[in-house]
Amino acid sequence: VATPAASVGHHGPVVRPTLAPDLRAELEEVLGPRGLVTDPDVVAVHTVDWTGRFRGSSPALVRPASTGEVAGVIEVCRRHGVSVVPQGGNTGLVGGSVPMGGEVVLALGRIDDIGPVSGLDGQVTVGAGATLGALAAVAREHGLRPPVDLAARETATLGGMVATNAGGLHVVRYGPMRHHLAGYEAVTGTGAVLSHLTGLVKDNTGYDLGGLLCGSEGTLGVLTRVRVRLLPDPAARAVGLVGFEALDAAVAAVAAWRRSLEGLEAAEIVLRDGVELVLATSGDRDPFDRPWPVYVLVEVAGDDDPAPAFADALAATDGLGDAVVTSEPGPRARLWAIREEHTTAINALGAPHKLDVTLPLDAFAAFCVEVPRLVTSVVPEARTWLFGHVGDGNVHVNVTGLAPDDDRVDEAVLELVAGAGGSISAEHGIGRAKRRWLHLNRTPAEIAAFVAIKRALDPDGILNPGVLL
Ligand SMILES: Cc1cc2nc3c(=O)[nH]c(=O)nc-3n(C[C@H](O)[C@H](O)[C@H](O)COP(=O)(O)OP(=O)(O)OC[C@H]3O[C@@H](n4cnc5c(N)ncnc54)[C@H](O)[C@@H]3O)c2cc1C
Repeated sequence: VATPAASVGHHGPVVRPTLAPDLRAELEEVLGPRGLVTDPDVVAVHTVDWTGRFRGSSPALVRPASTGEVAGVIEVCRRHGVSVVPQGGNTGLVGGSVPMGGEVVLALGRIDDIGPVSGLDGQVTVGAGATLGALAAVAREHGLRPPVDLAARETATLGGMVATNAGGLHVVRYGPMRHHLAGYEAVTGTGAVLSHLTGLVKDNTGYDLGGLLCGSEGTLGVLTRVRVRLLPDPAARAVGLVGFEALDAAVAAVAAWRRSLEGLEAAEIVLRDGVELVLATSGDRDPFDRPWPVYVLVEVAGDDDPAPAFADALAATDGLGDAVVTSEPGPRARLWAIREEHTTAINALGAPHKLDVTLPLDAFAAFCVEVPRLVTSVVPEARTWLFGHVGDGNVHVNVTGLAPDDDRVDEAVLELVAGAGGSISAEHGIGRAKRRWLHLNRTPAEIAAFVAIKRALDPDGILNPGVLL
Protein backbone atom coordinates (compact mmCIF):
# COMPACT_ATOMS: atom_id res chain seq x y z
CA VAL A 1 0.00 0.00 0.00
CA ALA A 2 1.38 3.40 -0.94
CA THR A 3 2.22 5.41 2.17
CA PRO A 4 -0.69 7.76 2.73
CA ALA A 5 -0.20 11.42 3.45
CA ALA A 6 -0.89 12.41 7.05
CA SER A 7 -4.56 12.39 7.83
CA VAL A 8 -6.11 15.85 8.16
CA GLY A 9 -8.75 16.29 10.83
CA HIS A 10 -11.40 13.66 10.29
CA HIS A 11 -10.57 13.31 6.64
CA GLY A 12 -8.34 10.40 5.70
CA PRO A 13 -5.24 10.32 3.52
CA VAL A 14 -5.20 12.83 0.71
CA VAL A 15 -3.52 10.42 -1.76
CA ARG A 16 -5.53 7.48 -3.08
CA PRO A 17 -3.68 4.38 -1.86
CA THR A 18 -3.00 1.55 -4.31
CA LEU A 19 -2.33 -2.15 -3.83
CA ALA A 20 1.20 -3.40 -4.42
CA PRO A 21 1.15 -6.01 -7.26
CA ASP A 22 2.35 -8.92 -5.12
CA LEU A 23 -0.23 -8.15 -2.40
CA ARG A 24 -2.97 -7.97 -5.03
CA ALA A 25 -1.92 -11.34 -6.47
CA GLU A 26 -1.96 -13.02 -3.07
CA LEU A 27 -5.35 -11.56 -2.12
CA GLU A 28 -6.78 -12.68 -5.47
CA GLU A 29 -5.54 -16.16 -4.79
CA VAL A 30 -7.31 -16.25 -1.41
CA LEU A 31 -10.53 -14.57 -2.51
CA GLY A 32 -11.14 -15.52 -6.13
CA PRO A 33 -12.44 -13.06 -8.72
CA ARG A 34 -15.53 -11.85 -6.80
CA GLY A 35 -13.79 -11.21 -3.55
CA LEU A 36 -11.35 -8.42 -4.39
CA VAL A 37 -12.62 -5.02 -5.57
CA THR A 38 -10.26 -2.21 -6.51
CA ASP A 39 -12.59 -0.10 -8.67
CA PRO A 40 -12.12 3.28 -6.95
CA ASP A 41 -15.78 4.25 -7.31
CA VAL A 42 -16.97 1.08 -5.61
CA VAL A 43 -14.29 1.25 -2.91
CA ALA A 44 -15.13 4.92 -2.23
CA VAL A 45 -18.65 4.00 -1.09
CA HIS A 46 -17.09 2.05 1.78
CA THR A 47 -14.76 4.82 2.93
CA VAL A 48 -17.32 7.30 4.31
CA ASP A 49 -19.21 6.71 7.54
CA TRP A 50 -23.01 6.94 7.88
CA THR A 51 -22.90 10.49 9.24
CA GLY A 52 -20.51 11.79 6.55
CA ARG A 53 -18.22 13.14 9.29
CA PHE A 54 -15.46 10.56 8.75
CA ARG A 55 -14.11 10.32 5.19
CA GLY A 56 -11.15 8.06 4.49
CA SER A 57 -9.66 6.19 1.55
CA SER A 58 -8.63 2.63 0.79
CA PRO A 59 -6.77 0.71 -1.91
CA ALA A 60 -9.25 -2.17 -1.90
CA LEU A 61 -12.42 -3.72 -0.65
CA VAL A 62 -12.12 -7.41 0.19
CA ARG A 63 -15.30 -9.46 0.31
CA PRO A 64 -14.54 -12.91 1.73
CA ALA A 65 -17.23 -15.58 1.47
CA SER A 66 -16.13 -17.80 4.38
CA THR A 67 -14.25 -17.84 7.67
CA GLY A 68 -11.37 -19.56 5.86
CA GLU A 69 -11.13 -16.69 3.37
CA VAL A 70 -11.16 -14.14 6.21
CA ALA A 71 -8.27 -16.04 7.84
CA GLY A 72 -6.44 -16.06 4.52
CA VAL A 73 -6.89 -12.31 4.05
CA ILE A 74 -5.64 -11.58 7.56
CA GLU A 75 -2.63 -13.85 7.10
CA VAL A 76 -1.67 -12.16 3.80
CA CYS A 77 -2.26 -8.64 5.09
CA ARG A 78 -0.28 -9.31 8.26
CA ARG A 79 2.68 -10.60 6.24
CA HIS A 80 2.58 -7.47 4.08
CA GLY A 81 2.18 -5.15 7.09
CA VAL A 82 -1.17 -3.90 5.81
CA SER A 83 -3.98 -3.00 8.20
CA VAL A 84 -7.63 -3.95 7.85
CA VAL A 85 -10.92 -2.31 8.85
CA PRO A 86 -13.79 -4.81 9.38
CA GLN A 87 -17.03 -3.39 8.04
CA GLY A 88 -20.60 -4.65 8.40
CA GLY A 89 -23.45 -2.33 7.46
CA ASN A 90 -21.33 0.80 8.07
CA THR A 91 -24.07 2.28 10.24
CA GLY A 92 -21.77 2.77 13.23
CA LEU A 93 -21.80 6.36 14.45
CA VAL A 94 -18.27 6.75 15.89
CA GLY A 95 -16.11 6.45 12.78
CA GLY A 96 -14.95 2.90 13.57
CA SER A 97 -15.93 1.21 10.34
CA VAL A 98 -14.10 3.36 7.78
CA PRO A 99 -10.44 3.37 6.69
CA MET A 100 -8.96 6.64 7.94
CA GLY A 101 -5.34 5.51 7.46
CA GLY A 102 -5.55 3.92 4.00
CA GLU A 103 -6.45 0.45 5.39
CA VAL A 104 -8.01 -2.34 3.35
CA VAL A 105 -11.78 -2.58 4.00
CA LEU A 106 -12.88 -6.11 4.93
CA ALA A 107 -16.62 -6.24 4.25
CA LEU A 108 -18.57 -9.15 5.74
CA GLY A 109 -21.64 -8.86 3.49
CA ARG A 110 -21.09 -12.18 1.67
CA ILE A 111 -21.06 -14.17 4.92
CA ASP A 112 -24.77 -13.78 5.55
CA ASP A 113 -26.23 -17.25 6.01
CA ILE A 114 -28.93 -17.61 8.69
CA GLY A 115 -30.30 -20.62 10.47
CA PRO A 116 -31.60 -23.13 11.20
CA VAL A 117 -33.51 -21.85 14.23
CA SER A 118 -33.41 -24.36 17.06
CA GLY A 119 -36.97 -25.29 18.06
CA LEU A 120 -35.80 -26.25 21.56
CA ASP A 121 -33.95 -23.14 22.73
CA GLY A 122 -34.66 -20.56 20.01
CA GLN A 123 -30.99 -20.11 19.18
CA VAL A 124 -29.64 -19.48 15.70
CA THR A 125 -26.17 -19.22 14.18
CA VAL A 126 -25.88 -16.27 11.84
CA GLY A 127 -23.23 -15.15 9.37
CA ALA A 128 -21.68 -11.89 10.60
CA GLY A 129 -22.76 -10.06 7.45
CA ALA A 130 -26.48 -10.90 7.79
CA THR A 131 -28.59 -7.85 8.51
CA LEU A 132 -30.80 -7.51 11.56
CA GLY A 133 -33.79 -7.15 9.24
CA ALA A 134 -33.01 -10.46 7.51
CA LEU A 135 -32.67 -12.22 10.89
CA ALA A 136 -35.96 -10.68 12.06
CA ALA A 137 -37.73 -12.07 8.98
CA VAL A 138 -36.45 -15.59 9.68
CA ALA A 139 -37.25 -15.29 13.39
CA ARG A 140 -40.82 -14.20 12.62
CA GLU A 141 -41.48 -17.49 10.82
CA HIS A 142 -40.89 -19.17 14.20
CA GLY A 143 -42.91 -16.70 16.30
CA LEU A 144 -39.63 -15.24 17.56
CA ARG A 145 -37.66 -12.03 17.18
CA PRO A 146 -34.05 -10.85 17.57
CA PRO A 147 -33.19 -9.76 21.12
CA VAL A 148 -31.99 -6.31 20.06
CA ASP A 149 -33.74 -3.89 17.73
CA LEU A 150 -32.59 -0.55 16.33
CA ALA A 151 -33.65 1.89 13.63
CA ALA A 152 -30.78 0.89 11.29
CA ARG A 153 -32.19 -2.67 11.22
CA GLU A 154 -32.24 -3.08 7.43
CA THR A 155 -28.51 -2.30 7.13
CA ALA A 156 -26.78 -3.04 10.44
CA THR A 157 -25.30 -6.54 10.58
CA LEU A 158 -25.13 -9.09 13.37
CA GLY A 159 -21.32 -8.95 13.28
CA GLY A 160 -21.38 -5.18 13.69
CA MET A 161 -23.98 -5.42 16.43
CA VAL A 162 -21.86 -7.85 18.42
CA ALA A 163 -18.67 -5.88 17.70
CA THR A 164 -20.31 -2.74 19.12
CA ASN A 165 -22.39 -4.51 21.81
CA ALA A 166 -25.39 -2.71 20.31
CA GLY A 167 -28.11 -1.55 22.67
CA GLY A 168 -31.15 -0.17 20.93
CA LEU A 169 -34.80 0.15 21.72
CA HIS A 170 -35.42 -2.71 24.15
CA VAL A 171 -32.45 -2.59 26.52
CA VAL A 172 -34.78 -1.38 29.25
CA ARG A 173 -36.28 -4.88 29.29
CA TYR A 174 -33.79 -7.27 27.69
CA GLY A 175 -30.33 -5.70 27.91
CA PRO A 176 -27.76 -5.19 25.11
CA MET A 177 -26.34 -7.63 22.57
CA ARG A 178 -23.84 -9.12 25.03
CA HIS A 179 -26.69 -10.64 27.05
CA HIS A 180 -27.87 -12.66 24.07
CA LEU A 181 -24.61 -13.93 22.57
CA ALA A 182 -24.50 -17.72 22.86
CA GLY A 183 -21.45 -18.38 20.66
CA TYR A 184 -18.95 -16.81 18.29
CA GLU A 185 -16.50 -17.47 15.50
CA ALA A 186 -13.79 -14.93 14.80
CA VAL A 187 -10.39 -14.53 13.16
CA THR A 188 -7.79 -12.75 15.29
CA GLY A 189 -5.03 -10.46 14.06
CA THR A 190 -2.72 -13.48 13.74
CA GLY A 191 -5.12 -15.27 11.39
CA ALA A 192 -6.10 -17.78 14.11
CA VAL A 193 -9.73 -18.92 14.04
CA LEU A 194 -11.51 -18.88 17.42
CA SER A 195 -14.71 -20.87 17.15
CA HIS A 196 -17.10 -21.61 20.00
CA LEU A 197 -20.61 -21.94 18.63
CA THR A 198 -21.90 -24.56 21.07
CA GLY A 199 -24.73 -22.37 22.41
CA LEU A 200 -24.55 -24.09 25.79
CA VAL A 201 -26.31 -22.15 28.50
CA LYS A 202 -23.89 -23.38 31.14
CA ASP A 203 -20.28 -23.52 30.01
CA ASN A 204 -17.67 -22.50 32.59
CA THR A 205 -14.60 -23.61 30.69
CA GLY A 206 -12.34 -20.59 31.05
CA TYR A 207 -12.21 -17.08 29.69
CA ASP A 208 -15.34 -15.62 28.08
CA LEU A 209 -13.79 -14.76 24.72
CA GLY A 210 -17.20 -14.07 23.19
CA GLY A 211 -17.88 -11.50 25.87
CA LEU A 212 -14.49 -9.95 25.12
CA LEU A 213 -15.14 -9.75 21.38
CA CYS A 214 -18.51 -8.19 22.13
CA GLY A 215 -17.88 -4.44 22.17
CA SER A 216 -14.30 -4.81 20.88
CA GLU A 217 -15.15 -2.75 17.76
CA GLY A 218 -13.13 -4.88 15.36
CA THR A 219 -9.87 -4.37 17.26
CA LEU A 220 -9.38 -7.95 18.51
CA GLY A 221 -10.87 -10.14 15.81
CA VAL A 222 -13.08 -10.26 12.76
CA LEU A 223 -16.35 -11.93 13.74
CA THR A 224 -17.48 -14.31 11.02
CA ARG A 225 -20.41 -16.08 12.72
CA VAL A 226 -22.37 -15.47 15.90
CA ARG A 227 -24.91 -17.61 17.75
CA VAL A 228 -27.71 -15.56 19.28
CA ARG A 229 -30.72 -16.27 21.44
CA LEU A 230 -34.01 -15.23 19.85
CA LEU A 231 -36.90 -14.11 22.06
CA PRO A 232 -40.60 -14.94 22.01
CA ASP A 233 -42.61 -12.29 20.16
CA PRO A 234 -45.54 -11.16 22.35
CA ALA A 235 -48.93 -11.31 20.62
CA ALA A 236 -50.09 -7.80 21.55
CA ARG A 237 -48.48 -4.38 21.80
CA ALA A 238 -49.51 -0.88 22.75
CA VAL A 239 -47.54 2.25 21.99
CA GLY A 240 -48.08 5.60 23.65
CA LEU A 241 -46.67 9.05 23.14
CA VAL A 242 -46.81 10.99 26.37
CA GLY A 243 -46.32 14.76 26.62
CA PHE A 244 -44.72 16.39 29.65
CA GLU A 245 -44.06 19.97 30.65
CA ALA A 246 -40.69 19.13 32.25
CA LEU A 247 -37.83 16.66 31.90
CA ASP A 248 -37.70 15.63 35.54
CA ALA A 249 -41.39 14.65 35.47
CA ALA A 250 -40.70 12.50 32.39
CA VAL A 251 -37.76 10.73 34.07
CA ALA A 252 -39.80 10.10 37.24
CA ALA A 253 -42.71 8.76 35.18
CA VAL A 254 -40.48 6.24 33.37
CA ALA A 255 -39.10 5.07 36.72
CA ALA A 256 -42.67 4.54 37.98
CA TRP A 257 -43.74 2.68 34.81
CA ARG A 258 -40.75 0.35 35.14
CA ARG A 259 -42.21 -0.76 38.46
CA SER A 260 -45.88 -0.85 37.49
CA LEU A 261 -45.82 -2.06 33.86
CA GLU A 262 -44.54 -5.61 33.63
CA GLY A 263 -44.38 -5.59 29.83
CA LEU A 264 -42.54 -2.26 29.42
CA GLU A 265 -40.36 -2.80 26.33
CA ALA A 266 -39.23 0.70 25.42
CA ALA A 267 -39.10 4.18 26.94
CA GLU A 268 -37.68 6.76 24.54
CA ILE A 269 -37.36 10.48 25.03
CA VAL A 270 -37.67 13.19 22.38
CA LEU A 271 -37.93 16.97 22.75
CA ARG A 272 -40.12 19.49 21.00
CA ASP A 273 -37.51 20.86 18.57
CA GLY A 274 -36.62 17.35 17.39
CA VAL A 275 -40.28 16.44 16.95
CA GLU A 276 -40.86 19.60 14.91
CA LEU A 277 -37.87 18.77 12.72
CA VAL A 278 -39.10 15.21 12.11
CA LEU A 279 -42.70 16.30 11.39
CA ALA A 280 -41.47 19.01 9.01
CA THR A 281 -39.37 16.41 7.17
CA SER A 282 -42.04 13.70 7.03
CA GLY A 283 -45.09 15.92 6.56
CA ASP A 284 -46.90 13.86 9.22
CA ARG A 285 -49.49 15.39 11.53
CA ASP A 286 -48.67 16.30 15.15
CA PRO A 287 -50.50 13.70 17.28
CA PHE A 288 -51.36 16.39 19.86
CA ASP A 289 -53.26 19.63 19.39
CA ARG A 290 -50.66 21.56 21.36
CA PRO A 291 -46.88 21.27 21.67
CA TRP A 292 -45.22 19.70 24.74
CA PRO A 293 -41.60 20.47 25.66
CA VAL A 294 -40.84 16.80 26.38
CA TYR A 295 -42.29 13.55 25.03
CA VAL A 296 -41.76 9.94 26.06
CA LEU A 297 -42.57 7.18 23.61
CA VAL A 298 -43.54 4.03 25.49
CA GLU A 299 -44.10 0.51 24.21
CA VAL A 300 -45.75 -2.19 26.31
CA ALA A 301 -46.14 -5.79 25.14
CA GLY A 302 -47.92 -8.89 26.40
CA ASP A 303 -49.99 -11.89 25.41
CA ASP A 304 -53.20 -9.86 25.91
CA ASP A 305 -53.78 -6.26 24.84
CA PRO A 306 -51.65 -4.24 27.28
CA ALA A 307 -53.50 -0.97 26.52
CA PRO A 308 -55.88 -1.10 29.55
CA ALA A 309 -53.01 -1.66 32.06
CA PHE A 310 -51.06 1.06 30.26
CA ALA A 311 -54.00 3.48 30.56
CA ASP A 312 -54.21 2.75 34.31
CA ALA A 313 -50.49 3.45 34.70
CA LEU A 314 -50.84 6.72 32.79
CA ALA A 315 -53.78 7.77 34.96
CA ALA A 316 -51.59 7.33 38.04
CA THR A 317 -48.66 9.32 36.58
CA ASP A 318 -47.70 12.63 38.18
CA GLY A 319 -46.84 15.60 35.96
CA LEU A 320 -48.30 14.06 32.80
CA GLY A 321 -49.59 16.59 30.25
CA ASP A 322 -51.34 14.49 27.61
CA ALA A 323 -51.06 11.08 26.00
CA VAL A 324 -52.08 9.16 22.90
CA VAL A 325 -52.11 5.37 23.11
CA THR A 326 -52.80 2.87 20.36
CA SER A 327 -52.69 -0.89 19.85
CA GLU A 328 -53.20 -0.68 16.06
CA PRO A 329 -50.13 -1.55 13.93
CA GLY A 330 -50.40 1.44 11.53
CA PRO A 331 -50.77 4.18 14.16
CA ARG A 332 -48.13 2.42 16.32
CA ALA A 333 -45.65 2.64 13.48
CA ARG A 334 -46.47 6.34 12.97
CA LEU A 335 -45.75 7.08 16.62
CA TRP A 336 -42.50 5.12 16.45
CA ALA A 337 -41.47 7.04 13.33
CA ILE A 338 -41.48 10.28 15.34
CA ARG A 339 -38.70 8.80 17.46
CA GLU A 340 -36.86 6.71 14.88
CA GLU A 341 -36.64 9.43 12.22
CA HIS A 342 -34.61 11.70 14.52
CA THR A 343 -31.23 10.29 13.43
CA THR A 344 -31.91 10.73 9.72
CA ALA A 345 -33.58 14.15 10.05
CA ILE A 346 -30.69 15.57 12.10
CA ASN A 347 -28.12 14.11 9.72
CA ALA A 348 -29.83 15.91 6.85
CA LEU A 349 -28.85 19.22 8.51
CA GLY A 350 -25.16 18.42 7.94
CA ALA A 351 -22.75 15.90 9.50
CA PRO A 352 -23.43 16.11 13.24
CA HIS A 353 -21.09 15.37 16.11
CA LYS A 354 -22.76 12.44 17.83
CA LEU A 355 -22.20 12.03 21.55
CA ASP A 356 -24.05 9.00 22.81
CA VAL A 357 -23.82 9.07 26.60
CA THR A 358 -25.40 7.59 29.74
CA LEU A 359 -26.14 9.48 32.93
CA PRO A 360 -27.19 8.17 36.32
CA LEU A 361 -30.98 8.63 36.27
CA ASP A 362 -30.89 11.21 39.06
CA ALA A 363 -28.57 13.38 36.92
CA PHE A 364 -30.37 12.85 33.59
CA ALA A 365 -32.81 15.80 33.59
CA ALA A 366 -30.27 18.35 34.86
CA PHE A 367 -27.77 17.19 32.23
CA CYS A 368 -30.30 17.61 29.42
CA VAL A 369 -31.04 21.16 30.59
CA GLU A 370 -27.37 22.04 30.99
CA VAL A 371 -25.87 20.56 27.83
CA PRO A 372 -27.37 22.95 25.21
CA ARG A 373 -26.15 25.90 27.31
CA LEU A 374 -22.70 24.38 27.53
CA VAL A 375 -22.56 23.75 23.78
CA THR A 376 -23.42 27.34 22.84
CA SER A 377 -20.98 28.67 25.43
CA VAL A 378 -18.22 26.82 23.54
CA VAL A 379 -19.43 27.40 19.95
CA PRO A 380 -22.28 29.97 19.85
CA GLU A 381 -23.54 28.98 16.39
CA ALA A 382 -23.78 25.26 17.24
CA ARG A 383 -27.18 23.63 17.85
CA THR A 384 -27.95 20.76 20.20
CA TRP A 385 -30.50 18.02 19.58
CA LEU A 386 -31.32 15.55 22.32
CA PHE A 387 -33.16 12.24 22.13
CA GLY A 388 -32.55 8.74 23.37
CA HIS A 389 -33.32 5.76 25.49
CA VAL A 390 -34.42 7.42 28.73
CA GLY A 391 -35.26 4.07 30.32
CA ASP A 392 -31.50 3.36 30.32
CA GLY A 393 -30.39 6.90 31.22
CA ASN A 394 -29.03 7.07 27.65
CA VAL A 395 -29.27 10.33 25.73
CA HIS A 396 -27.91 10.96 22.23
CA VAL A 397 -26.40 14.44 22.22
CA ASN A 398 -26.28 15.51 18.58
CA VAL A 399 -24.55 18.78 17.77
CA THR A 400 -24.89 20.41 14.35
CA GLY A 401 -23.09 23.46 13.02
CA LEU A 402 -19.60 22.22 13.93
CA ALA A 403 -16.67 21.53 11.61
CA PRO A 404 -15.99 17.74 11.42
CA ASP A 405 -12.61 18.09 13.11
CA ASP A 406 -13.57 20.72 15.73
CA ASP A 407 -13.51 18.70 18.96
CA ARG A 408 -14.05 21.52 21.47
CA VAL A 409 -17.71 20.77 22.07
CA ASP A 410 -17.07 17.02 22.27
CA GLU A 411 -14.51 17.60 24.97
CA ALA A 412 -16.70 19.91 27.03
CA VAL A 413 -19.75 17.62 26.85
CA LEU A 414 -17.85 14.42 27.60
CA GLU A 415 -16.16 16.04 30.59
CA LEU A 416 -19.59 17.12 31.85
CA VAL A 417 -20.82 13.54 31.47
CA ALA A 418 -17.87 12.02 33.31
CA GLY A 419 -18.15 14.64 36.04
CA ALA A 420 -21.78 13.65 36.58
CA GLY A 421 -20.82 9.98 36.96
CA GLY A 422 -21.90 8.96 33.45
CA SER A 423 -20.39 7.01 30.57
CA ILE A 424 -19.01 8.74 27.45
CA SER A 425 -20.32 5.87 25.34
CA ALA A 426 -23.64 4.26 26.14
CA GLU A 427 -24.03 2.00 23.13
CA HIS A 428 -22.21 3.23 20.00
CA GLY A 429 -18.69 2.48 21.22
CA ILE A 430 -15.56 4.61 21.32
CA GLY A 431 -14.47 4.25 17.68
CA ARG A 432 -12.27 7.07 16.47
CA ALA A 433 -14.64 9.81 17.60
CA LYS A 434 -14.11 9.37 21.36
CA ARG A 435 -10.73 7.67 21.60
CA ARG A 436 -9.10 10.78 23.06
CA TRP A 437 -11.47 10.71 26.02
CA LEU A 438 -11.44 7.03 26.98
CA HIS A 439 -9.42 8.03 30.07
CA LEU A 440 -12.46 9.89 31.40
CA ASN A 441 -14.14 6.55 32.14
CA ARG A 442 -11.27 4.06 32.31
CA THR A 443 -8.31 4.02 34.71
CA PRO A 444 -4.69 3.74 33.49
CA ALA A 445 -4.64 0.18 34.84
CA GLU A 446 -7.74 -0.72 32.83
CA ILE A 447 -6.36 0.82 29.65
CA ALA A 448 -3.07 -1.05 30.20
CA ALA A 449 -5.09 -4.29 30.44
CA PHE A 450 -6.90 -3.37 27.20
CA VAL A 451 -3.52 -2.85 25.48
CA ALA A 452 -2.20 -6.19 26.77
CA ILE A 453 -5.27 -8.01 25.43
CA LYS A 454 -4.96 -6.20 22.11
CA ARG A 455 -1.28 -7.22 21.82
CA ALA A 456 -2.12 -10.85 22.58
CA LEU A 457 -4.78 -11.15 19.87
CA ASP A 458 -3.41 -8.68 17.33
CA PRO A 459 0.35 -8.43 17.96
CA ASP A 460 1.06 -6.33 14.85
CA GLY A 461 -1.89 -4.01 15.38
CA ILE A 462 -3.37 -4.62 11.94
CA LEU A 463 -7.02 -4.75 13.08
CA ASN A 464 -8.69 -1.34 13.11
CA PRO A 465 -5.68 0.76 14.13
CA GLY A 466 -6.76 4.06 15.68
CA VAL A 467 -10.09 2.71 16.88
CA LEU A 468 -10.77 2.50 20.64
CA LEU A 469 -7.09 2.49 21.71
C1 LIG B 1 -30.49 5.34 12.13
C2 LIG B 1 -29.56 4.66 13.09
C3 LIG B 1 -30.04 4.23 14.32
C4 LIG B 1 -29.18 3.58 15.21
N1 LIG B 1 -29.68 3.17 16.41
C5 LIG B 1 -28.88 2.53 17.27
C6 LIG B 1 -29.39 2.08 18.53
O1 LIG B 1 -30.54 2.31 18.86
N2 LIG B 1 -28.54 1.41 19.35
C7 LIG B 1 -27.23 1.15 19.00
O2 LIG B 1 -26.51 0.51 19.78
N3 LIG B 1 -26.73 1.58 17.82
C8 LIG B 1 -27.51 2.26 16.96
N4 LIG B 1 -27.00 2.70 15.77
C9 LIG B 1 -25.59 2.48 15.46
C10 LIG B 1 -25.31 1.20 14.63
O3 LIG B 1 -26.43 0.81 13.90
C11 LIG B 1 -24.84 0.07 15.53
O4 LIG B 1 -23.61 0.44 16.13
C12 LIG B 1 -24.65 -1.26 14.78
O5 LIG B 1 -24.36 -2.24 15.74
C13 LIG B 1 -23.54 -1.22 13.76
O6 LIG B 1 -23.65 -2.35 12.92
P1 LIG B 1 -22.94 -2.35 11.48
O7 LIG B 1 -23.09 -3.69 10.89
O8 LIG B 1 -23.45 -1.23 10.66
O9 LIG B 1 -21.42 -2.11 11.89
P2 LIG B 1 -20.37 -1.14 11.22
O10 LIG B 1 -20.83 0.26 11.27
O11 LIG B 1 -19.98 -1.67 9.89
O12 LIG B 1 -19.14 -1.32 12.23
C14 LIG B 1 -19.21 -0.86 13.54
C15 LIG B 1 -17.92 -1.29 14.28
O13 LIG B 1 -17.88 -2.71 14.38
C16 LIG B 1 -16.77 -3.24 13.65
N5 LIG B 1 -17.26 -4.41 12.93
C17 LIG B 1 -18.28 -4.48 12.04
N6 LIG B 1 -18.47 -5.76 11.65
C18 LIG B 1 -17.55 -6.49 12.30
C19 LIG B 1 -17.22 -7.88 12.32
N7 LIG B 1 -17.89 -8.76 11.59
N8 LIG B 1 -16.20 -8.29 13.10
C20 LIG B 1 -15.50 -7.40 13.85
N9 LIG B 1 -15.76 -6.09 13.87
C21 LIG B 1 -16.78 -5.65 13.10
C22 LIG B 1 -16.30 -2.13 12.74
O14 LIG B 1 -14.91 -2.22 12.45
C23 LIG B 1 -16.65 -0.89 13.56
O15 LIG B 1 -15.65 -0.65 14.52
C24 LIG B 1 -27.83 3.37 14.87
C25 LIG B 1 -27.36 3.81 13.63
C26 LIG B 1 -28.20 4.46 12.76
C27 LIG B 1 -27.65 4.89 11.43
